[in-house]
Amino acid sequence: MPEHTTSPSAPSSPTRRHHHIGGEQVEPASGAWFESHNPATRATLYLAARGDATDVDRAVRAARTAFEDPRWRDLSQTRRGHLLRRLGDLVAENADELAHTESLDNGKLLREMRGQLASLPEYYWYYAGLADKIQGDVIPTSDRTVLNYTMREPLGVVGAITPWNSPLTLTTSKLAPALCAGNTMVIKPSEHTSASVLRLAELVEEAGFPPGTVNVVTGFGAEAGQALVDHPDLAKISFTGSTGTGSRIAANVAARFLGSTLELGGKSPNIVFGDADVDNAAMGVVAGIFAAAGQTCIAGSRVFAHRSVYDELLEKVAARARTIKIGDPLDAATELGPLAFGDQRDKVAGYVDLGRSEGARVLTGGRASDGGGLGGYFYEPTVLVDVDNDMQVVREEIFGPVAAVMPFDHEDEVVALANDTEYGLAAGVWTRDLGRAHRMANRLDAGTIWVNTYRAMSPMSPRQGFKNSGVGVEHGQETIKEYTRLKSVWINT
Ligand code: NAD
Repeated sequence: MPEHTTSPSAPSSPTRRHHHIGGEQVEPASGAWFESHNPATRATLYLAARGDATDVDRAVRAARTAFEDPRWRDLSQTRRGHLLRRLGDLVAENADELAHTESLDNGKLLREMRGQLASLPEYYWYYAGLADKIQGDVIPTSDRTVLNYTMREPLGVVGAITPWNSPLTLTTSKLAPALCAGNTMVIKPSEHTSASVLRLAELVEEAGFPPGTVNVVTGFGAEAGQALVDHPDLAKISFTGSTGTGSRIAANVAARFLGSTLELGGKSPNIVFGDADVDNAAMGVVAGIFAAAGQTCIAGSRVFAHRSVYDELLEKVAARARTIKIGDPLDAATELGPLAFGDQRDKVAGYVDLGRSEGARVLTGGRASDGGGLGGYFYEPTVLVDVDNDMQVVREEIFGPVAAVMPFDHEDEVVALANDTEYGLAAGVWTRDLGRAHRMANRLDAGTIWVNTYRAMSPMSPRQGFKNSGVGVEHGQETIKEYTRLKSVWINT
């Protein structure tokens, strides 16, 4: 028996989840609420507050007050680190509840969520350790009577806007370094997944951060999201989401000289050379595209296989794809959950139809599924062949369980194909040749390169999207620069 199962029946009166502002649960100023659904069953899970400019203004004011509050502003950096460590402990203690909450909200497998939650506290612990290592330098001067030194200061109120595919992890990538550097924050989670981030905000206060340090306004992008980006008292926007939305935000904040970190879309190549361990590579290709039903920015959606192993790899990938168990995300035996909402499932189906019309052949998959009777937004793991790098289905981000597999003959050729994309988030390489691994790492135009692995990630390792995949760095020590400003002080002694 599975440990948890999803009940197809909806609760009779859904819970209301309020904004989290200044340490309090706050009703939406407009009095409007919207439904959040379980994508596996379409059942209503809860009602979220529909935030607008008034709610956002209230949250930014709370964050500004907290930023200037001596309890936060004058807290020693070491004690800031203590709070982050405690927050990491609380995330660990509440991991199962958080995993369950997010799995219900976005349909991600509970098993996958538990894996994510097992490493999530490390992000807080890592930045806990960095908090009292943020420091300036003493700069040499030509005159010994003059002292010149630098200080790294927090920015102020940071606005964070996040998508639905991994709300806790993607919020943490912003929250942990922002708090580490002494900022305060207003978070606008995706309208599809408000619950886990609201719970995280409660844990922030339980950890001892003063009320108002972290605020959450729920709602839609065009309302709450836009109001947050437009707010005059923001010091920075940190956004993760689609390249289209990111581009609009970038144009808006550039005109106001506001700092921004943008983590955007991808169409990552996963390249299998003739000398690769094909069994391992096939597993890497499957995990690269079908994890989280393909709803990851780093999905290895363009697979290039050397012609000498093309048939063998394809056979292994398709065989595995056909046996992937689709169903209840809470059931430990399930391997593929639903897409996070109906429009996303329709978008995936539309892309596969477009691929067919462009001449692609569906080797396996290519149909919607009801998830074994659950009735949610499922789509079969799909492998497209007879495709080329110019087709729309190969160039655009689908954000679903759809791999396009193409043969190649030469290293130079595959480098050119892999780099022929507007994106530059990540790339995978499968080879036993160490020299080739280094060459590929040098030549691939992507911020993260994996060799004989895929998806490896750590709070210590900086990551950056190249080209239209982003601006700025997340994770690692580099990120601290994104959440601080540098002041130069001259003293004539
Ligand atoms: P999206 O751009 O539609 O929405 C992301 C967030 O922006 C949501 O909270 C949304 O409400 C908000 N938003 C929408 N319009 C807005 C506006 N005008 N002003 C302010 N906020 C607005 O993206 P999505 O569909 O939620 O997420 C999927 C995308 O995210 C994919 O493209 C994926 O590749 C990308 N992503 C990137 C990374 C990364 O680290 N590079 C990680 C995960 C997801």
